[in-house]
Amino acid sequence: MTLRVNIHAIRQNKASEIKGIFTTDARELELSSEPFFFCSPVECTWMVTNAGDFYVLEGELSVCYQVQCSRCLQEVKARHAFPFSQQFCRNQGTDLEEFLPVRGDEIDIAPVLREHILLNVPVKPLCTSKCKGICPRCGKDKNQGDCGCQDSAPDPRLAVLEKLLKDD
Ligand SMILES: [Zn+2]
Ligand SMILES: [Zn+2]
Repeated sequence: MTLRVNIHAIRQNKASEIKGIFTTDARELELSSEPFFFCSPVECTWMVTNAGDFYVLEGELSVCYQVQCSRCLQEVKARHAFPFSQQFCRNQGTDLEEFLPVRGDEIDIAPVLREHILLNVPVKPLCTSKCKGICPRCGKDKNQGDCGCQDSAPDPRLAVLEKLLKDD
């Protein structure tokens, strides 16, 4: 998938800019990252500015995804919007890693979108920030009510004492 922006119109004038909106398909962006399932559309508003020696692409991305809550394992569907930016440079052979190449008059923004989306999804997705998770003892989803299990393991010394008392 290529999403190309032609920068010919702003090539001559420093500080000139072009802007636009992309709506694209998650599959076309080749978005896949277990355990995330990305939904469509992926929306992007973008602007490219001629900064003299280089070009700046910036904008906002909006993606939605389905994923299991990392605590309670319920399916979560969320939409996530965030800003991004990337610099492009015409000089080939530049060893500055923060610049991506301009090819002809075009910049390819699909890899930029893909990378920023994958960097911005949460490491530990949650259904809500207050998710109580699953009881490690009985397996009940504690968001649906207390299961009645003791939170801490019983003190083994007390257990011994209890046994002694019972045996009496
Ligand atoms: Zn949860
Ligand atoms: Zn329990």
